[in-house]
Amino acid sequence: MIAYYFQGEERFEYDVQGLISSFFPGEGFKKLPRPLSEAEAKKEGFSLIYPVPLPNDALPYEDIKNDFKRRVYDELKLLAGRELPWGCLTGIRPTKLIMELLEAGKKPVEVAEHMRRVYYLDGEKLSLAISIAQRERQILSSLSGPEGWSLYAGIPFCPSRCAYCSFTSYPMEGNENKVEAYLADLFYELEQSVSLMKGVVPDTIYIGGGTPTALSAEQLERLLEKICSLVPAEKVKEFTVEAGRPDSITAEKLKVLKSYPVSRISINPQTLQQRTLDTIGRKHTVEDFLRAWDLAREAGFDNINMDLILGLPGESAADVEDTLEKIKPLAPESLTVHALAIKRAARLNQTPLPSPGRGGGWHGEAVTGEGDSQASSMMSAASQGAQSMGLFPYYLYRQKNMAGNLENVGYAKPGKEGLYNILIMEEKQSILAVGAGNISKAVYPDGRIERADNVKGLEEYHRRMEEMLERKRRLWL
Ligand code: SF4
Repeated sequence: MIAYYFQGEERFEYDVQGLISSFFPGEGFKKLPRPLSEAEAKKEGFSLIYPVPLPNDALPYEDIKNDFKRRVYDELKLLAGRELPWGCLTGIRPTKLIMELLEAGKKPVEVAEHMRRVYYLDGEKLSLAISIAQRERQILSSLSGPEGWSLYAGIPFCPSRCAYCSFTSYPMEGNENKVEAYLADLFYELEQSVSLMKGVVPDTIYIGGGTPTALSAEQLERLLEKICSLVPAEKVKEFTVEAGRPDSITAEKLKVLKSYPVSRISINPQTLQQRTLDTIGRKHTVEDFLRAWDLAREAGFDNINMDLILGLPGESAADVEDTLEKIKPLAPESLTVHALAIKRAARLNQTPLPSPGRGGGWHGEAVTGEGDSQASSMMSAASQGAQSMGLFPYYLYRQKNMAGNLENVGYAKPGKEGLYNILIMEEKQSILAVGAGNISKAVYPDGRIERADNVKGLEEYHRRMEEMLERKRRLWL
């Protein structure tokens, strides 16, 4: 456990925590109200006590925070004995920062110099982030701009709960009787809120979750019917349904999706190592995934995304390479590579799971030191694998507590990039989100962004519907 205390006024605490957890992943940290003596620290079991410096207020206002972060980074770097791949950047949207600089007229070489100087970002990560921001800018220029919007509808049910999941998701088993009530609420929320967008055709529609295909074919059809009765779905640029779990996919459901203007689906194996799938509670086999994939191709889907997770328990770079080799013949149109981020809610963070190949329990703690280089090798393997399938990186985001301090990267064939993914990351348009636990975001022409949260629990979602609708109205009326 790392302890820290502020040597003066407490400021930029979120950034301090972000840097401590990046340098010492999995350690945990605690803020102290005052310094402790060595004996006290030993008694409390702290491995390190970090005195947070004072920001330099003599600097111009816009430089204070970044200068402070650089100093904290320099000190922590010495204490940890290593650097971070993303320098002192702690936010989840590095490409947004770069895009703003490009939009302000800076040349890529000037952007690179700025990112090096201000955030210590360099090398591979810098090139990746700049190339993605450039690609995104090009793609965004074909969309509607700030007056456009996207619709997100969430289905918080899954065939079973994966061990690493920190989303709002209820396993179908034991919750079947809640699905109809949820759909009734969701339809009501859709009816009441889509009109806030004043008849403008959305650029994209995304049905996510959970696992939307955990619904029955008939329920799925009613959901699509409802959405298509409210928005001209045949005119949108992208209509995604995250089929997600292979064990929820049937030929009948795919036929339903195909009978509506769904243009993109996602089928996610996460890994093609059966022993890992068993460990993480996916409750489906590699064969289930391959069968679902073939069914989707037979149904005529020509834009299928696949999600992979790096850093799963017991997996090495060799496992990632093997998974990619198995994926290659399937020729996915896009591949989203996530570095495992462990959040508090995830079972992996609470329960030791058997860890094949490691001979011990794995508690979901983020990998440290040595693990960082392993995570980095996996990321390189994934990047090379994606490249060999003709896929290019097109979006990127980071999360707290990510394995190896890395990033999530979306790769796609040219023209098959997930537009919604770019829009949600770059915050260029409003997102109207319906369903339990989802967040709507209004992006105003002056660049301001405001959010309206939906509550997470199913009962609360029903009970507090009017309150959530009122929050949405305040964003758009
Ligand atoms: S399929 Fe996704 S949303 Fe569902 S339990 Fe697994 S990780 Fe969570």
